[in-house]
Amino acid sequence: MFGGGLRPAVSGVKALTDDCVFCKIAAGEIPAKLVYQDPEFVAFSDINAQAPVHLLVIPRKHYPDILAAHKADAALLERVFAVVARLAAEKNLEADGFRLVCNTGRNGGQTVKHLHFHVLGGRFMGWPPG
Ligand code: AMP
Ligand code: ZN
Repeated sequence: MFGGGLRPAVSGVKALTDDCVFCKIAAGEIPAKLVYQDPEFVAFSDINAQAPVHLLVIPRKHYPDILAAHKADAALLERVFAVVARLAAEKNLEADGFRLVCNTGRNGGQTVKHLHFHVLGGRFMGWPPG
């Protein structure tokens, strides 16, 4: 998981975030097309967009998934939704709607283990998902 040998156990949490692409985006260490940022959250375009609008909203703080975030700070989920609602307005998604997705774990299809919400819009989304 850590890519290169053992690291001291005391730095276990830090080591996880060291290897996290979304932590690096939040820290400005790797580039992303940012559409929103505040002290707690960052939103940016998905690098592999699946719709005309495909944004990812993340907390700057590393939580592996929504269950971990809810356990540690349930009110974060209300605050992140305020960012989603703001983006929906800014990207003109309110009238025609959009899809908000939080893939969680293996069966959920989560590939990046840092809590993120997909905001997908600009086209009709089929159902059921694959
Ligand atoms: P998930 O499958 O829900 O974990 O979604 C992860 C998403 O992150 C995918 O849609 C990827 O295209 C996206 N992604 C991965 N790396 C980057 C990156 N460096 N910049 C923007 N989006 C990314
Ligand atoms: Zn992270």
